[in-house]
Amino acid sequence: MPGVSHRIESISESATMAVNTMANQLRSEGRDVIGYGAGEPDFPTPEAIVEAAVAAARDPAMHRYTPAPGLPELRAAVATKTKRDSAYEVEPSQVMITNGGKQAVYATIQCLIDPGDEVLLPSPYWVTYPSAVGLADGVTVPIETGSEQGFKATVEQLEAARTARTKMLIFVSPSNPTGAVYTAEEVIAIGEWAAEHGVWILTDEIYEHLVYGDATFSSIPSLVPAARERCVVVNGVAKTYAMTGWRVGWMIGPPDVIKGASKLQSHSTSNVANVSQAAALAAVSGSLDDVAMMREAFDRRRRTMFRMLDEMNGVSCLEPQGAFYAFPSMHGALGRPIEGEVAKTSLELATLCLEKAGVAFVPGEAFGAPGYARFSYSIDDDDLQNGLTRLGSLLAED
Ligand code: PMP
Repeated sequence: MPGVSHRIESISESATMAVNTMANQLRSEGRDVIGYGAGEPDFPTPEAIVEAAVAAARDPAMHRYTPAPGLPELRAAVATKTKRDSAYEVEPSQVMITNGGKQAVYATIQCLIDPGDEVLLPSPYWVTYPSAVGLADGVTVPIETGSEQGFKATVEQLEAARTARTKMLIFVSPSNPTGAVYTAEEVIAIGEWAAEHGVWILTDEIYEHLVYGDATFSSIPSLVPAARERCVVVNGVAKTYAMTGWRVGWMIGPPDVIKGASKLQSHSTSNVANVSQAAALAAVSGSLDDVAMMREAFDRRRRTMFRMLDEMNGVSCLEPQGAFYAFPSMHGALGRPIEGEVAKTSLELATLCLEKAGVAFVPGEAFGAPGYARFSYSIDDDDLQNGLTRLGSLLAED
């Protein structure tokens, strides 16, 4: 495209959005489409949080610019919440409030990555990470993790990929897109490896409260104090409190990084919308009761989805342990006729299933994992079952 910079030309639109767009197009044509593409809770934001925002909207002090790194009371509340949830003690000055967790990822990478710096990224990965690395002229080094290793990177793999240019590891547990959750032992091993070799860690803890069964959330800087001086935690209210539209996240890091990120923010977005910050303040300083209710629903849907997917012809699924995604292998559905058509890739299969069964999922290509698919179980129980029943019938045919 003439005029558009190479930097922007080098990134593509989020593939998760592309599937949603296609599904919406079919819906507008009157088709019954069940979508598993959602990357957000399907619940409304809890009432007390909404009330706090309404009160803030009426407060003239909230109608003005506020400090770029965030409302002081919210930065303090995030520090308190971090101690409560992961036993990691930080000063409010180590917290910067951002426009969603996504902007915290972007700001962290802008602050730490110079051109040519290498960033280790376990694959399958959330699409935003490599795009953010590319926008800083960094080099993403994917670390392949298949279902046979539970979609989790090992220290041996990280060490094999480490070079003199390795600057950072991006770590996310519970994971989008795989639903994998690293154990405390695995988290400690990775944190100690990074500390030993002076590798920075961006640890994305946005799904910290969404773990199921025996899985537990473990925070690297909490368990490995030696990693703290080169660690940035990314988090936010979006997934925990059903607040994706409010756009509030944060990053927690060493003072120099937070100072750098505040400079960047002061020249790019200034402060995050005050009304949203007030809502986030109510969220992080309130109880976790609503979260428990949502987690229970997600857990129920997770078990149904796992069972139904794993029973399908040509699909095999690892039981997801966290977040709200299942990430089955679709390899057995590729290369064979399905209602007279053959899909050679998971991308083609996604289109075929959307057209023939009215079922939308995100193909693994979007996460650096062709042959797989991401299904979100953040969807109404009946729809979840109906769509998977339709998909099962489609794939049953030979
Ligand atoms: N990290 C991960 C792993 C995510 O899946 C998401 C949302 N898809 C985010 C961060 C960002 O969330 P938000 O910007 O809405 O806070």
